[in-house]
Amino acid sequence: MADCIFCMIANHEIPSNVAYEDDRIIAFHDLDPQAPVHVLVIPKKHISSLDDVKEEDQELLGYIMFKIHEIAADLGLENGYRVVSNNGEDAFQTVKHLHFHILGKRKMTWPPG
Ligand code: 5GP
Ligand code: ZN
Repeated sequence: MADCIFCMIANHEIPSNVAYEDDRIIAFHDLDPQAPVHVLVIPKKHISSLDDVKEEDQELLGYIMFKIHEIAADLGLENGYRVVSNNGEDAFQTVKHLHFHILGKRKMTWPPG
């Protein structure tokens, strides 16, 4: 999709630090990391958010979820990590191309807050 920064990353029209790539997805390090390891996993197909997922995207979504643990393992996150997807305005989604944040190596307190 024109004017979509993540489509441009998926098409290698703008550079990114790629962690994993195949014909359907690309994972790249976040420009403004919120954790010591912060990688974004996106479908190469433009889908604006989870609200825009179509029935035909079910297999692709399952594939993304399946690959996330392999990508996390390659990033050395054997001790655990968070997966976050911000969708829509109330979640402060800033890039309107579906993405899953992998956040790792951050010391977290429990309970949160
Ligand atoms: P959101 O708030 O939409 O869930 O998060 C979007 C994320 O994309 C942010 O963490 C932001 O730092 C990251 N981001 C935005 N533009 C770029 C970019 O051009 N390259 C990379 N690597 N990350 C980006
Ligand atoms: Zn896009």
